[in-house]
Amino acid sequence: MGTDWFVFCESIVSRFVRHRPLPMLLHQFSHFRNPIPVSTRPYNQKMPFSVVRKVADADFPTRWGQFRILGFEGVIDNPLPCNDNLPALATRIESAVALVMGDIHAAPPIVRIHSQCLTGDVFHSLRCDCRQQLELAMAAITDAGTGILLYEQQEGRGIGLMAKLRAYELQDQGMDTIEANLELGYKADCREFELPAEILKHLGLKAVRLITNNPQKVEALELAGVKVVERISAEVPSEPTNERYLQTKREKMGHLVS
Ligand SMILES: [Zn+2]
Repeated sequence: MGTDWFVFCESIVSRFVRHRPLPMLLHQFSHFRNPIPVSTRPYNQKMPFSVVRKVADADFPTRWGQFRILGFEGVIDNPLPCNDNLPALATRIESAVALVMGDIHAAPPIVRIHSQCLTGDVFHSLRCDCRQQLELAMAAITDAGTGILLYEQQEGRGIGLMAKLRAYELQDQGMDTIEANLELGYKADCREFELPAEILKHLGLKAVRLITNNPQKVEALELAGVKVVERISAEVPSEPTNERYLQTKREKMGHLVS
């Protein structure tokens, strides 16, 4: 009995510890009283892709340098809805772009998983820090001469552009970014980060250096079998207009920002 109990406890602890780097473990224990809701946990095994395919691969010169631009699609059958008030779909197709620079196989490359933010990426919004993080990632990849920027079409943490704008309205009335999503019937975060993991594996990568402040992205890649040998901070200077947004990401979503 004693031995069985010890083995049982050891298996539980090792299962929890195995895929988590020490800083993430320390961070998670320090937030144990306020754990991240189940709905925001990444790599939901109940929603595997039935297929992930590359649909395009072309030259892509940019002001940052020369990339290849690759298009990927992942098909999910019977996806779990992110909003219980919306009709369930039989199939959902997720798409993502991979900007690839240089020889990504010589050493674990720099990788950024960036979620689409029209308001930030295109209009330079100061409600969030997305555009600055995108520029930080592009500069890091260009400086290294190699790397991958994965751009997921998941506006507003996956709730879509119109819902995100409605969430902005609610934030103007005093809610934070998570409270607003929940008020609209959505989960706090609809992203799972499965597609980027599958794309990296499709590109033949087993290890990466990930630019992120989000421990869930690290965890998602590790659970999918892509080792994160280094986490590179994506922290950028805050603006008076996005301080509360960054505070919510730090305190409620566990982002590693000061
Ligand atoms: Zn943004």
